[in-house]
Amino acid sequence: MTGITIALSKGRIFEETLPLLAAAGIVPADDPETSRKLILGTNRADVRLVIVRASDTPTYVQYGAADLGIAGKDVLIEHGGAGLYQPLDLKIARCRMAVAVPNGFDYAAAVQRGARLRVATKYIQTAREHFAAKGVHVDLIKLYGSMELAPLVGLADAIVDLVSSGNTLKANNLVAVEDIMPISSRLIVNQAALKMKRDLLQPVIDAFAGAVK
Ligand code: ATP
Ligand code: MG
Repeated sequence: MTGITIALSKGRIFEETLPLLAAAGIVPADDPETSRKLILGTNRADVRLVIVRASDTPTYVQYGAADLGIAGKDVLIEHGGAGLYQPLDLKIARCRMAVAVPNGFDYAAAVQRGARLRVATKYIQTAREHFAAKGVHVDLIKLYGSMELAPLVGLADAIVDLVSSGNTLKANNLVAVEDIMPISSRLIVNQAALKMKRDLLQPVIDAFAGAVK
């Protein structure tokens, strides 16, 4: 396509991207929360949005099915970043990656005595690197959601998950015991598209940069 395709996920990323799009003069023609369309037009004939699963955004941009995308750092670490240029931290969808355990579980003591920890997470790469750097031996168990359940039913000793308010942890008698890294969403750009369509893409990248708080 000669225009621009931007990959976004529904929910917080879409909502928090609207002001950035507006700064670039782009207004979606539909609301993905109410429309079932996966390709949304905009006020600009040469710009369209594609609605994808958050964890799929880097894949669409990597293969050039979208020129631009917005993805959480959590998702980008798991993806690996191949083929992607990441020019901007957009400072949206902010939270943190943390280790959490059931209330009363002595995490520090378990780590200190060199216990082998069972850790359930959607974020295998992040967890592997974190515990390897600490020299903690872990068995990682891959989950796709509802990580908070795992320690409650004996699937794992700990989880690695995103935390913002901490309310979900609290509601499940869990507590964050270690921060791994702050998380926010990044603009990602297909490297080949940036070379071929720089005249179209650069103004959008610049407008986003100007709108970041
Ligand atoms: P799905 O819900 O489709 O399984 P997801 O949970 O990754 O996917 P979202 O919940 O929309 O999708 O999260 C999208 C991104 O927003 C995440 O990749 C992360 O960067 C960020 N995020 C996730 N949870 C929070 C949160 N509680 N507060 C702020 N940002 C968050
Ligand atoms: Mg979610």
